[in-house]
Amino acid sequence: MHRGTVHPGARRQGRDIDVLTLPHIDLGELVAARDHRDDESSFWIDPRTGAIEFCSVDDSAEDFDERGLVPVEPIDTHESYEIMEDFVASVSSREAREKLGQAIRGRGAFGRFRDRMYDYPDLKEPWFAFRDRRMEQLALEWLAFAGLVAEEEVDAAIEALRRSAQPPLRAVLLDVDGVLTVSWTALPGAVEAFAALRASGVPLALVTSTTSRTRAAVGEALRAAGFDVADEEIVTAPVATAAYLAEHHPGARCLLLSSGDVTADLTGVMLVGPDAEQVDVVLVGGAGPELGYPALNRAFGHLLRGARLVAMHRSMFWRTDAGLALDAGAFVAALEAASGTTAEVVGKPAAGLFTAALARLGIEPAEAVMVGDDVDADVLAAQRAGLAGVLVRTGKFLPETLENADGEPDAVLDSVADLPAWLERRR
Ligand SMILES: [Mg+2]
Repeated sequence: MHRGTVHPGARRQGRDIDVLTLPHIDLGELVAARDHRDDESSFWIDPRTGAIEFCSVDDSAEDFDERGLVPVEPIDTHESYEIMEDFVASVSSREAREKLGQAIRGRGAFGRFRDRMYDYPDLKEPWFAFRDRRMEQLALEWLAFAGLVAEEEVDAAIEALRRSAQPPLRAVLLDVDGVLTVSWTALPGAVEAFAALRASGVPLALVTSTTSRTRAAVGEALRAAGFDVADEEIVTAPVATAAYLAEHHPGARCLLLSSGDVTADLTGVMLVGPDAEQVDVVLVGGAGPELGYPALNRAFGHLLRGARLVAMHRSMFWRTDAGLALDAGAFVAALEAASGTTAEVVGKPAAGLFTAALARLGIEPAEAVMVGDDVDADVLAAQRAGLAGVLVRTGKFLPETLENADGEPDAVLDSVADLPAWLERRR
């Protein structure tokens, strides 16, 4: 869902205050449009374009819904007040919370707000809410739109609120497959979007769960597809695993179970041969013939003797040209069950990839956004790690997966081509 942005210096009630609007939706325009319709009609908004459409018969509502339009509904005053109270309670900055609480509860501000509505001849029904919209977004709008905050406090309160609810984004983490490329071919507009991000100076990192290619091979494939990217900007699962091991198991002797060429990216990791007697970490990478019975049984023995189990990711299967294929997560689960240990997972949906990329950029999680085509492994996982999460409708995106997801992306974009404009509003 979109969040609001601040436009300083707009005029309301004959004086200058900050006005918050949605990126594409103007509340005044909305209300004016609504007032010109009869009571039977409903109106709908396309959240992607801000276009408003009217529905005068019930049959059309289904069509509008299917097209992804959002109905706009009135809510009553009491509910509005509760939402406002909830919102104030949810603001993370204590200072901003106290200031807003005072502004709303003190000096009869809410009643004043209601009374003032009669001063707006074109504003007969101010109580609208967008279904599914975040409460703070609605409340932010009201605060400024109605001058709810005392005049002398407007600037400070809104600024404090904006900072606490929506820290500016200073770095971008991009998933590769399904966001920039599919089968290593650039998606439409992706090369241009990447170039625009680069030109804007925002720090970038590419994060990919792959264990089958080294970062150098990923870099080469991306450059061949037209992206101006350096190998050091790419974080693969083995790269993140090396960082994880250095932090959590420094100097550990690691027995690697993996298919594909991952050792080049395991910089600083002490790998031991299959016959080593002393093993501190059993490290599972990508699945393949290397994870046969002898190797798994050897790993099992080390786990029984106290070695830790570390997995680069725990994906259960992946899609190949020949259908779904069993991935390393299944072997990790088998080793966990047999040895009674719990694996430490580095890559998606764990935070290791994001952490490694952020450490490289020197950026705090709250200052970064992760962009991916997997709502769970990319977007919600990033949000759990404290980043903003943006979903793109390319790659593996399916509308039903988004609908059934346990959370809500900060934004859903048609493709990465829309990212530079979105980011511009959040910096
Ligand atoms: Mg992807």
